[in-house]
Amino acid sequence: MTDVAVPPRERGFATPSIERGFATTQVHTGFTPGTTWSTAVPPIHQTAAYEFSSLQEAADLFALRKAGIIYSRNASPTQQVLEERVAALEGGVSAVAVASGQAAVAVTLLALAGRGGHIVAADQLYGGTVDLLQDTLDDFGIPVTFVDQDDADAWRAAITPQTRVLFAETVANPIAQVLDIRLVADIAHEAGVPLVVDSTVGTPALIRPGEHGADFVVHSATKFLSGHGTSLGGVVVDQGTFDFGAEPGRWPQFTGPYRRFGDLVLWDRFGQGQAFAALVKSKYVHDLGPSLSPFNAWQILQGIETLDLRVARQSASALTIARHLAQHPSVARVHHPGLAGNPWHDLAQRYLPNGVPSVFSFDLVGSESDVTARVARVIEELRIFRLVANLGDARSLVAHPASMTHSHLTATQRAAAGISLNTVRLSIGIEDPADLVADLDHALTRS
Ligand code: PLP
Repeated sequence: MTDVAVPPRERGFATPSIERGFATTQVHTGFTPGTTWSTAVPPIHQTAAYEFSSLQEAADLFALRKAGIIYSRNASPTQQVLEERVAALEGGVSAVAVASGQAAVAVTLLALAGRGGHIVAADQLYGGTVDLLQDTLDDFGIPVTFVDQDDADAWRAAITPQTRVLFAETVANPIAQVLDIRLVADIAHEAGVPLVVDSTVGTPALIRPGEHGADFVVHSATKFLSGHGTSLGGVVVDQGTFDFGAEPGRWPQFTGPYRRFGDLVLWDRFGQGQAFAALVKSKYVHDLGPSLSPFNAWQILQGIETLDLRVARQSASALTIARHLAQHPSVARVHHPGLAGNPWHDLAQRYLPNGVPSVFSFDLVGSESDVTARVARVIEELRIFRLVANLGDARSLVAHPASMTHSHLTATQRAAAGISLNTVRLSIGIEDPADLVADLDHALTRS
């Protein structure tokens, strides 16, 4: 057994303060200078293991009688700064950082639905998440029902007595459908289950889903939180809102005996807002090993320091580019909820008053039968946008979801997610927007 979620005060780090502004939090929270070497910036604790002062201390740590770090599979001080910072930015109570966004989704869903549970998930998801849900989790005996995220009746109808979680993206990749978080959270809570949202595209700089009823917020930290495209990572934040103790029979993983710790009850030991992180770390990260390296944790921390600056520019540039593309004769449709007439425009105004994310798509004109070659020509002609399976980078990126991120979906699933063969996804970087517009114009005209 290695370290579990340790309350911040016991670790000697600054406690998150939501009275601080967002920008102050993204630079400072989780780290207090004055460590052994008085580093001004959180150091990279690049060590596999931590030395114990005595065998008694080791035994206490292994038995969860004492909080501390044992081994980097589950925690490092660098990772803890990251966890505390992202929890604070989301207005949450605790967080667990892991090796990738994919791992964050996986350990979250395993912790909630891993014991014979059922998941209801939106049709509108990143393709890798669909793979995880309909393939690997299905192999594990965790069935998933997909529903249109805008259809409240479909969410309700899909819930069974075995359902343990509702899952959706706050702003979906790649079509940028905006989730009515409050609506789906209310449906989840009526059914006595939590709502988990993936807010990778949204980012806490634009939306804090916990303020609208989401109970757990997942991020691929590889994307906007990092912003530099150098490092994989994932984070799940517990908002501290879901009471697993209200119906203890449903949640034995929190309220029942935990065999490996002498029948300890996590809910009694850690309580609301901390028990989930304790389970994820002590069981799923410990057993399956999707650990975040201290170096990647540090890289992500460097990115977070400029999150709101980057996101504000990217969001403004994306709107400029979306407006331009909407007038372009080679473009049939622009899927950007900042545009009037977009089906999710009203939800964007309600949930994203500070700007719409910079990941959006457009459809080229033409029938699906001959369009793929033309998409390839457009992509070939681009000089600034890079063809990369990533988003949220400082660089502007282009992708063809049907050939790339969503290529494992059936045609019916792609249609349900709003993706056609004509769909081209953009992730707008921090370059000059005029250069990006000129690049797209050039490519669309030449192809
Ligand atoms: N969630 C969303 C919305 C994504 O776009 C991605 C990756 O593209 C992931 C999760 C998975 O994250 P990672 O690539 O860090 O595993």
